[in-house]
Amino acid sequence: MKFNTKTIHGGQENTDPAYNSVMPPIYQTSTYAQSTPGGHKGFEYSRSGNPTRAALERSLASIENGNYGMAFGSGLAAIDAVMKLFKPGDEIISTNDLYGGSYRLFTSIFENLGIKFHFIGMQEAENIESYINENTKLIWVETPTNPMMNIIDIEATAKIAQKHKLLLAVDNTFATPYLQQPLELGADIVMHSATKYLGGHSDVVMGGLVVKDKELADKLYFIQNASGGVCGPQDSFLVLRGIKTLHLRMQRHCENGEKVARFLKEHPAVAKVNWPGFEDHPNHDIAKKQMKGFGGMISFSTTEGSTESAVKILENLKVFTLAESLGGVESLAGHPASMTHASIPKEEREKTGVVDSLIRLSVGIEDGDDLVADLKQALGE
Ligand SMILES: *Cc1c(COP(=O)(O)O)cnc(C)c1O
Repeated sequence: MKFNTKTIHGGQENTDPAYNSVMPPIYQTSTYAQSTPGGHKGFEYSRSGNPTRAALERSLASIENGNYGMAFGSGLAAIDAVMKLFKPGDEIISTNDLYGGSYRLFTSIFENLGIKFHFIGMQEAENIESYINENTKLIWVETPTNPMMNIIDIEATAKIAQKHKLLLAVDNTFATPYLQQPLELGADIVMHSATKYLGGHSDVVMGGLVVKDKELADKLYFIQNASGGVCGPQDSFLVLRGIKTLHLRMQRHCENGEKVARFLKEHPAVAKVNWPGFEDHPNHDIAKKQMKGFGGMISFSTTEGSTESAVKILENLKVFTLAESLGGVESLAGHPASMTHASIPKEEREKTGVVDSLIRLSVGIEDGDDLVADLKQALGE
């Protein structure tokens, strides 16, 4: 099955044995009647498993080319489950230009539990090896990175992970499996904030994990059930519905993203535009190699450079909504320094390029000309 068919049919055979409904029913139930103790039809209690969630989990596994999918109540709950594979003394090497919430989870929760994190630049994959020692267990990669749109070479990183027998996890939220398939490039775990492109309609918070390996899946299933950070059947249904148009939405996100990025690059009030599709983007060649397109996530700084200059643009935008989050059908704009990345200290932030005037755009699937016109008026012609 090709990707554009998998989004619609992947893992969806016989989801309703009772009436053959085309969409899986929303099994809004916490428990299931048993004919005799242990006599059930595969589901006992909805933390452990629910048929609607199971349909979504099979879909996730299918679109990411994995064997096992797991859905969680949020992206961070999914990451939390991965971190519970480790114990005090273990070390994890992570991208430094990281989603703020992941950084907060790592440094404010798991560092206190004795796990050591190294936040490093990974654009040069060789850089990773100098941080590996006998306690290292995992490499955590986010690519494209948020909000600087740096690209990390997944295949090169996977080779390093394999050489040292480490796990490699990739947060694939920004790219989605439409653009990039980390398991095919050698990663062990793919993580999603399904809140973003997979759900795609800004109406649900959810997370997902996909793996190929049975033993790893069993450990993560155990944690999913034991810690209990699962999502409900209604939300599972919504994300399953979102995934069915993922390929169509991503095509338009890419088209509009390119239009907006090229417009911004020529504008005198804009200092720098970060978008991996530019030929002069430092990791453009890797992006071209591992991604099918360049997506609709863009960040840019102003020539004026102040927080005020960014705030003025954000307040003037009319089609773009000033809001946290990304990946929905509607275009959103945000100010990372005060919003998504406020939990990262200013010095750390600026080291990775998250300056005060940086604006992040999640370019939606409206008419691209309207989006450009909106930015034009907000930037003051
Ligand atoms: C939003 C996001 C997360 C966290 O997901 P939630 O669903 O908000 O918990 C993790 N990684 C990336 C890249 C994100 O954009």
